[in-house]
Amino acid sequence: MELRSAQTIWETALGELQIQVSRPNYRTWLEKTIGLSCQESEFIIGVPNTFVAEYLRKNQYSIIEKTLINIMHRNIRASFKVYSGRKSQRETNTSHGEIIPATASSALRLHPSYTFASFVVGNCNRLACAASQEVAHHPGHSYNPLFIYGGVGLGKTHLLQAIGHTGLAGNCQVLYVSGEEFTNEFVTAVRDRKMADFRSRYRSTDVLLMDDIQFIGGKEQTEECFFHTFNELHNSGRQIVITCDKTPEEIPKFSARLRSRFEWGLVVDIKKPDIETRRAILKAKAERDGADINPATLDFIAEHVQENIRTLEGSLNRVVAYAKLLNTMLTPEIAAAALTDIASKAEKAVKPDRFIPSRVIEAVAHSFQLSPEDLTGRKRDRETALAREVAVYMLRKGNSFSLAEIGRELGGRNPSTVSHAYHKIEGFLESSPYLKQKLQDIHEVLSLKN
Ligand code: ADP
Ligand code: MG
Repeated sequence: MELRSAQTIWETALGELQIQVSRPNYRTWLEKTIGLSCQESEFIIGVPNTFVAEYLRKNQYSIIEKTLINIMHRNIRASFKVYSGRKSQRETNTSHGEIIPATASSALRLHPSYTFASFVVGNCNRLACAASQEVAHHPGHSYNPLFIYGGVGLGKTHLLQAIGHTGLAGNCQVLYVSGEEFTNEFVTAVRDRKMADFRSRYRSTDVLLMDDIQFIGGKEQTEECFFHTFNELHNSGRQIVITCDKTPEEIPKFSARLRSRFEWGLVVDIKKPDIETRRAILKAKAERDGADINPATLDFIAEHVQENIRTLEGSLNRVVAYAKLLNTMLTPEIAAAALTDIASKAEKAVKPDRFIPSRVIEAVAHSFQLSPEDLTGRKRDRETALAREVAVYMLRKGNSFSLAEIGRELGGRNPSTVSHAYHKIEGFLESSPYLKQKLQDIHEVLSLKN
């Protein structure tokens, strides 16, 4: 009988997978997965969308399964499930492995451990945390909207979802959505002529939690729709909490009227954690995982990993898994070895190189699950066209090849088409973290092969 929860098992597995796969790969495909449930012979992994599920199933299945078998000491099959609870109710496992129906918070896709209780407070986030607690306990009565901004991995989503958990516990109707999901839902609602449903869904909530609103910037119609949703909720005293990677003034893509509304309530930031907070976070995480790690090792990690909290947590997982693989005691030296290993791998991954065109084309095609001939041929469907443009970008970046050369390599395309494709991807990259990751991924495959 499995006594550990699916969540804990999967976190251990992620620690090991971080060592086995490259960093860009881990970030793109594994970082946002969670352990959903664990039965006798099946382990269900929650993934953010079907694309990730598909990718993992095709490309990383055996390594995932092997890692799980190693941890659980029994034969187990891995399967993937999209954990957007709105469409399909998510399942939660008990310590005995059976599946129980989703609770309100999992139906909302709130991460079970993103609560105030597990949020470590330090100088970098004290104000943001206090303000979040205030609005969670008195929605609509204090700061409205509450606008939280800060860099990646600093705890914005954690705080936002903590507000969600508290709101639900107080019997409020809560809606958590990312800027990207809001955009997708809006587009689908327009296409399927379901705007009335969309409106009533968003305008009937007591607390609207909008994560990563920067995604909506520049998408005029979505922004307009959000503007009206905002007004309606605000006018009727409902709480709105927004997170963003920048301050309202720093996102010029938003209309002035929306930016000014963001400043109606309270704007607070989350900064990078100082050394004390980093230590406290590592200590809390080690305790939560039941890992017995000596203070010198924790200090070593806290001193050397300063980027953000997500990286900090990832580094701890990595160090623990590294020591386990080598079957050795955890010491600062082992931590140093575990972290250097990764750092040098990552460096190699981003090193600009002049690549052989056929290899670039092959790597790009593979990453889109197409063949090189698809890219050099005449197929014009969206996916193939995008893959071809990505290949152009990779060949052109760093001026490795001329437009004419690239055109030739890609089956005789003329230089102006090539130039157009290059600029198109360059533009896309600014607004699509997904595409950015994909490119890094391909780049890394190429670096490893060279
Ligand atoms: P963001 O949304 O700002 O990119 P997240 O909220 O996703 O960052 O946080 C990244 C990771 O760091 C999460 O696993 C989160 O639980 C953890 N984390 C962030 N801030 C804290 C904190 N103050 N205390 C404990 N864990 C934290
Ligand atoms: Mg976030």
